[in-house]
Amino acid sequence: MPDELKPCPNPACERTCIMVDTTYRHEVYVSTHCFCAHCGTRGPWCKDGAVTLSMEEAVAAWNALPRRSDLGRHSG
Ligand SMILES: [Zn+2]
Repeated sequence: MPDELKPCPNPACERTCIMVDTTYRHEVYVSTHCFCAHCGTRGPWCKDGAVTLSMEEAVAAWNALPRRSDLGRHSG
């Protein structure tokens, strides 16, 4: 299992149903990224498929995405 995933960064979602997906192109490994099973938010985005992340990197990048709770911490 990967490291713990933070909730969805979408402020309208913030669910915790985060999945880790691995992308292949022509059966060649391209990248790993995380996505929210509820709203479909994906990240980190790959630029032209050029960014190859390990699962650990993808999880870290997902967890590093800005979240409302990180920005001001005011509820509502
Ligand atoms: Zn979501």
